[in-house]
Amino acid sequence: MDEGYTLAPMRLLVTGGAGFIGSNFVRYWVEQHPEDHVVAYDALTYAGNRPNLADVEDRIVFVHGDICDGSQAEKTLRDEDIDTIVHFAAESHNSLAVLNPGLFFRTNVLGTQTLLEASRQVGIARFHHISTCEVYGDLALDTDEVFSEDSPYRPRTPYNASKAGADHAVRAYGETYELPVTITNCSNNYGPYQFPEKVIPVFTTSALDDKNLTLYATTENRREWLHVRDHCTAIEAVLQRGKVGETYHVGSGVEASIMEIADLVLATLGKPDSLKEIVPDRPGHDRRYLLDSSKLRTQLGWAPEIPWEVGLAETVEWYAANRAWWEPLRARAPVVEGGWGTAG
Ligand code: NAD
Repeated sequence: MDEGYTLAPMRLLVTGGAGFIGSNFVRYWVEQHPEDHVVAYDALTYAGNRPNLADVEDRIVFVHGDICDGSQAEKTLRDEDIDTIVHFAAESHNSLAVLNPGLFFRTNVLGTQTLLEASRQVGIARFHHISTCEVYGDLALDTDEVFSEDSPYRPRTPYNASKAGADHAVRAYGETYELPVTITNCSNNYGPYQFPEKVIPVFTTSALDDKNLTLYATTENRREWLHVRDHCTAIEAVLQRGKVGETYHVGSGVEASIMEIADLVLATLGKPDSLKEIVPDRPGHDRRYLLDSSKLRTQLGWAPEIPWEVGLAETVEWYAANRAWWEPLRARAPVVEGGWGTAG
């Protein structure tokens, strides 16, 4: 049997459970594993949104907590008798990181280390850390290179660097204290409940309001896109069959440029091309990331199931149908894109 496989019902703590991926994961988990106990632990920053969990609130415990508060984290782990942590909580917006890097290092590095320490004090069966393709830096647009689990860390932005620091902390707790850790580094996610500051919801909500879609001048920069539900099945595979101490890449292999995304969103909504507006690029903007996810596919039998064009059209339609969800959030977005060229 694979090391770390849990047969008994799990008792999960999902940090960042009120955010985009965390809330999708909580929903996925209670649907697939109704016998498990799920605690969503979230500080409810501007990006955390309790209504994301509205349809599953009666099946979970919600704790309003900060991962940087070690005593609250430790108390929650003990009170809820947690055996498995899935750690999503983070500051996640690259643009905000350029303006407020200290916040990112506090939450993503120190917060992760604080949570690791609480886990060590309590003793848990698995600490699964959610990381990103961005820790490896960026790729040239014309290269055949892809990032493997052995690629060197070369973060270029405060967000990337803070996630890289978190990954190092997780590995250090695994090696030094034998905390049973696993890590997944995932490509860009899209799907319902993504805060309207990230590119697909920003383009979609702008188009719905007949406002301009602001494209960074590097319109050919591209990302590998994975539907959030496919990310959830990947984490499930690692929790159930992954080997303690290992890192697994999660990616679809499907790339799309900023220009292609704008075109797909406009076509799905039947809006004109004239809504596209080119604005100055963000400092340090990475050109491209692409993961080799063959380890997860061959060793754990995972594969993504949602085709990009289908998933994107469904996501755009979800935003069209859920204006009441995103409209109040838009006012909470801390960064207004478009002003980098004039920033000091
Ligand atoms: P998000 O910003 O939507 O959600 C982050 C959540 O963490 C929010 O609910 C926020 O309230 C919570 N949080 C922030 N600081 C906290 C703190 N100190 N204590 C407790 N909770 C806190 O982000 P997301 O897009 O859902 O990303 C989740 C995780 O996945 C992050 O670790 C991110 O780095 C990683 N990731 C995201 C993507 C992506 O494309 N979105 C891709 C790869 C990896």
